[in-house]
Amino acid sequence: MSDSNFSSLPLQTAILDNLSTLGYQSMTDIQAQSLPAILSGQDIIAQGKTGSGKTAAFGLGLLNKLQVKKFRIQTLVLCPTRELADQVAKEIRKLARAIHNIKVLTLCGGMPFGPQVGSLEHGAHIIVGTPGRIEDHLGRGTLSLENVDTLVLDEADRMLEMGFQTALDNIISHIPSQRQTLLFSATFPKQIQAIANQYLQAPKVVKVESTHASNSISQHFYHVENDEQRLTAIRLLLLTHKPESSVIFCNTKKETQSVADKLANDGFGVVALHGDLEQRDRDQTLVRFANKSASILVATDVAARGLDIESLDAVFNYHIAHDSEVHIHRVGRTGRAGSTGYAFSLFNDKERYKVGLLEDYLERTIEAEILPDSKVLQSSVFLPKMTTIQIDGGKKQKVRPGDIVGALTGENGLAFEQLGKIQLGANWAYIAVEKMVARKALNKLTHGKVKGRSFRVRELN
Ligand code: ADP
Ligand code: MG
Repeated sequence: MSDSNFSSLPLQTAILDNLSTLGYQSMTDIQAQSLPAILSGQDIIAQGKTGSGKTAAFGLGLLNKLQVKKFRIQTLVLCPTRELADQVAKEIRKLARAIHNIKVLTLCGGMPFGPQVGSLEHGAHIIVGTPGRIEDHLGRGTLSLENVDTLVLDEADRMLEMGFQTALDNIISHIPSQRQTLLFSATFPKQIQAIANQYLQAPKVVKVESTHASNSISQHFYHVENDEQRLTAIRLLLLTHKPESSVIFCNTKKETQSVADKLANDGFGVVALHGDLEQRDRDQTLVRFANKSASILVATDVAARGLDIESLDAVFNYHIAHDSEVHIHRVGRTGRAGSTGYAFSLFNDKERYKVGLLEDYLERTIEAEILPDSKVLQSSVFLPKMTTIQIDGGKKQKVRPGDIVGALTGENGLAFEQLGKIQLGANWAYIAVEKMVARKALNKLTHGKVKGRSFRVRELN
């Protein structure tokens, strides 16, 4: 066993001190296994489930070797989606808090090009981005990677599945071959091996158990005849277990939207996440789910992959996943941090072979269970506890969470406990408040002032 204490690593003191203020007491398995090699400059291939702490593994590596005084792009992190890139950038900034003047820039699609060019002109140390947009910048000559000495491929399997192989080849051809390359992937298909052979040098391979501690997840399987029964099964299970936060995994965008629409029609607090949504809608969807203004997220694997969603009470597999590893991955999102989570999987006759594959993979037999009694369908739907209020003022208007709390909790205002998460964007803020006091909150914000100004206020639905 390796020492799981961060202080056993050759990290800068400032970085170490910051880790303890972040509450990172010891390394996760994947960090303990990969960080010594990463810090010694080796290439690595690391495989680990969502939530295993891969970001800090490469984040600490790249920060520790960064030359802050040399104001050039030294690190490129490639991620499959904008949400993931945003999350990675956020985590890197958190880890970098103790080092002055580190500039992390995200370059993703769905965002206007011009401001990105402006930011690039100002310079950066670390770029986190999606392959498509990075390629665009390279094509237009607005980005130079000639000083990059660390390349991170995060969620590499997902990038390949999304068809980024050519973009990756092109981008990597712009990076000096004298570099450290770190590849992270949840699954390990042949294509990843091919990429590794091509782009990594004598990598250390690290694999952390992909099966989740099975005792904290209670898995249940149900046989259904057709799609109508599938939806009924979901309703029955939702109404029986009333999970505060759950994800329903669907196989296609179309199915995702249709399941979400039908549940919304029943009155559930549901949101959908898939690739066809406008970026702004995707952002709002995630905000509302994370702050508990929506209790059910219907999503495709691609859309939900890697998202750091805390504490899911249940995961539903509308169809059992094509691949056993994907199944384990989905299911591993519940039952975190010692709490028990439920995983409900539906399959029809045609999908029975997937149950067989899963039995082989898990080395246990799977018995289909009987669905809850249909009487449950008569009970009323449960609703999310919170709702989200948006104000059209954010960081650019110098609004801070404290200003919002102040405006809401003043005289005749809300109790502090009735407030949930506050998230600030450039020109907006999302505020979760208990549904019961939504009207009061809207009133307070509409008639009162935040930071001495009146902003436009509305409830998101
Ligand atoms: P992955 O990329 O493997 O899916 P993340 O890097 O997103 O996982 O990490 C999941 C969560 O765990 C994040 O919220 C992160 O801040 C937290 N985390 C990572 N490393 C540690 C640690 N050593 N101690 C405590 N929390 C950690
Ligand atoms: Mg990750």
